[in-house]
Amino acid sequence: MTETAHQRYLRLAAADHRHLWHPFTQMQVWLAEEPLIIERGEGNYLIDARGNRYLDGVSSLWCNVHGHRKAQLDQALREQLDRIAHSTMLGLSNTPAIELAAALSAIAPTGLSRVFYSDSGAEAVEVALRIAAQYWQLSGQPQRTLFVTLEEAYHGDTIGSASLGYSEPFHRHIRPLLFPTVKTPPPHVFRFHRRMAPQAADEAALAAAARLLEQHGKQTAALVIEPLMQGAAGMWSHSTDYLRSIVEMARAAGALVIVDEVATGFGRTGAMFACEHAGISPDLLCLGKGITGGYLPLAATLATERVFEAFLGRPEEFRAFYYGHTYTGNPLAAAVALANLEVFRDERVIQAIQPKIEILRGALQARFARHPKVADIRQWGLMAGVEIMDSPEERRAYPYAAQTGARIAKAARKAGVVVRPLGDVMIFMPPLSITPSEIEMLTDAVYNATCEIVGK
Ligand SMILES: *Cc1c(COP(=O)(O)O)cnc(C)c1O
Repeated sequence: MTETAHQRYLRLAAADHRHLWHPFTQMQVWLAEEPLIIERGEGNYLIDARGNRYLDGVSSLWCNVHGHRKAQLDQALREQLDRIAHSTMLGLSNTPAIELAAALSAIAPTGLSRVFYSDSGAEAVEVALRIAAQYWQLSGQPQRTLFVTLEEAYHGDTIGSASLGYSEPFHRHIRPLLFPTVKTPPPHVFRFHRRMAPQAADEAALAAAARLLEQHGKQTAALVIEPLMQGAAGMWSHSTDYLRSIVEMARAAGALVIVDEVATGFGRTGAMFACEHAGISPDLLCLGKGITGGYLPLAATLATERVFEAFLGRPEEFRAFYYGHTYTGNPLAAAVALANLEVFRDERVIQAIQPKIEILRGALQARFARHPKVADIRQWGLMAGVEIMDSPEERRAYPYAAQTGARIAKAARKAGVVVRPLGDVMIFMPPLSITPSEIEMLTDAVYNATCEIVGK
């Protein structure tokens, strides 16, 4: 007897509840609910095990770029599979990894000519911090061991990357294991510089950074920053002026600059890399998420030749960068990443998204700007956050236990849209391939869900 679709769903749901432990998830809540089980994808839509379609409003956690089942990407993956799935980068090289490194260097901000691969954004950051730390040990300034980071920055979830990007709700239980960093307040008007004009907030935040660098500059190995948008903090945006100025300050203090474009890279902010908006070029650039168009786990840390050369020497000098993972430079992932870059070029994706960015801006303003529970709307390109509060006037949040953002997301799902909030910040992070009418559908669904849960 063959299983019906419904029986199949029940079997899978039971096995999920029996065996899986989901990331960033209170499993007690998960186990009390029916899981949404994704079985297929088609363009900007996810299709569940019961055949229902959902607009992928957060690009499958910020990584999908051109939609699901993109023909050129599927094709590149199949062709590579006919050659080889994996071979190691330790002592050997492989064709797609070489071609991708050259292609990434060609489009990256100036000077980033060396590519070191890893498998996730957290590892790309881990690699950057390890390179920076070793760089100073090898360069006659061994006292440079400190990292300057922004408060509430998020750089991933390994111990190293969580040390750089500490988040109280996420990382409180591992706090004793994390190494100390110097944290500077971002120019986020809404939280750190209440009711200041944006320019005054920039100046206040830069003054704070200047004081910290005055104190710690000579011990600082690197400034680490998410450019223009602190994503996981809840979409906290800052200006290109702020980014340029803090980078200049770090350089003046003699430190390296590490830019984490794991979220902002590959078109997300309206340029290939957020650095381009500010005209900056870091010493180390971290890439992940969209690098494979959202297909496979791959990440990269790009470095300048100056950084790279510090590691050269005879074997017995032990200057080599002793770091790596088994699947580093995986050929399947590199092949699909290469195809991703080709789609960017062939379809002029950066040009094509410019009008969509304005449509999203208009759609968010039209729906949320006058809603009494909306405290702030923040956007850079096709990444946006709408912050919901019990009292925007008094900056009073809803109690955590109310799970307001999660309930809004749940309500939006009934309208055929998948979104994942950050606390009570509703996140809009669609694939770059989203159409104007889908932008209306996405913002409508979240707006209606907001009204359903918190009134209007
Ligand atoms: C998601 C993210 C990371 C971590 O990437 P993973 O692939 O989840 O390890 C690091 N930095 C930023 C800015 C991110 O948004």
